[in-house]
Amino acid sequence: MPKLMQMLREMSTFASIMAGVYVHIPFCASRCSYCDFFSTLSLHEAAGPYVEAVIAEARLRRDELGGEPVKTLYLGGGTPSQLPLSLLERLVTGLADVLDFCGVEEFTVEANPDDVTPDWCASLPPLAVNRVSMGVQSFEDDILCAIGRRHTARQAVEAVLNLRSVGIDNISIDLIYGLPGQTLASWTQSVNQAIDLHPQHISAYGLTYEDGTRLWWQRERGEVQEVPEDVCVAMYRTLVKRLREAGYEHYEISNFALPGYHSRHNSSYWDETPYLGLGAAAHSYDGRVRRSNPCDLRGFIDIVNAGKPACEQEEMSWWERYDERVMLGLRTARGVDADRLQADFGSQAWRHFTREAARHISAGNIHLDSDGHYQLTEEGILLSDSVIRDLMWSD
Ligand code: SF4
Repeated sequence: MPKLMQMLREMSTFASIMAGVYVHIPFCASRCSYCDFFSTLSLHEAAGPYVEAVIAEARLRRDELGGEPVKTLYLGGGTPSQLPLSLLERLVTGLADVLDFCGVEEFTVEANPDDVTPDWCASLPPLAVNRVSMGVQSFEDDILCAIGRRHTARQAVEAVLNLRSVGIDNISIDLIYGLPGQTLASWTQSVNQAIDLHPQHISAYGLTYEDGTRLWWQRERGEVQEVPEDVCVAMYRTLVKRLREAGYEHYEISNFALPGYHSRHNSSYWDETPYLGLGAAAHSYDGRVRRSNPCDLRGFIDIVNAGKPACEQEEMSWWERYDERVMLGLRTARGVDADRLQADFGSQAWRHFTREAARHISAGNIHLDSDGHYQLTEEGILLSDSVIRDLMWSD
């Protein structure tokens, strides 16, 4: 452990080519009704072999990082906070033996509030975890219960206090608006409670009814009602207004941060920084090729244990890379850099982009700043799906 602590704590400030590592932890204690992420309930029998398989996969695929030190490390899920502490430690130390963590600046672990006990929190600083992202979703206990969350609003508050007591001062919380039964007033109260907790980062997503989830079936059977579109829009406007007033920067459509606390790991996805995804269902990108691991826990373990990488790969075409540049760029406050777009994709793509963008500038959906960056306006964000589709190459 001392070697690991020293390595991870040498938070390098030199600028290098960045690389991120994402590790998927596909275990949950129960299934939330709206969720279609890949996860299983088989923690007890599978977690040990899974952690070893992830470390083995890192050894097999480390060359994909091109020798670059890892700048951000992110354990997502599923529910990483469900991993027993001994396995969490084994995972981090095992990965540190294989990958270069000397340059890690941000190490995030996702957690559910009911797992964030004083003991769990105390285990984080020795592993050099410096950021925790918590799925709070709402501060309304009846709604939390209805969507199958295991925690209460009070547990979410206690979790934040527990994290602060061990010195974790970079906390992100996730919220969802448009949940069945939610009103504009109750959502506003949830946003206010989130602000009162003063987390450094807040992610807020509109609920989507994913095909085949329990919630989707409940809607099909008429057991839950969708929140009307106009109410969802009002919820989003309230969110943006309240968080701005509280000093949060709206730096991506669904993400808000106090100054200096943008998620570096997620920003690297939007900046097209290479990242290596380890574990079942994880995705990777090296700037040219996308790789994806199977959504199959046993299959992933078996393939890796046979000494082979489990990923399938697909080289992105010119127009797929262009579309991704436009889509990801417009989601961020920084927007799409027109000069870079022309340099990377040529005049034909640039003409298509600027012609379509001009229509949306006239309509008030896009703003062109003095540095030549095209950004969605607040109205454009509300129409983001259709605006982005217009600017993409394919439709
Ligand atoms: S929302 Fe999170 S905790 Fe709930 S089932 Fe999905 S991955 Fe698991």
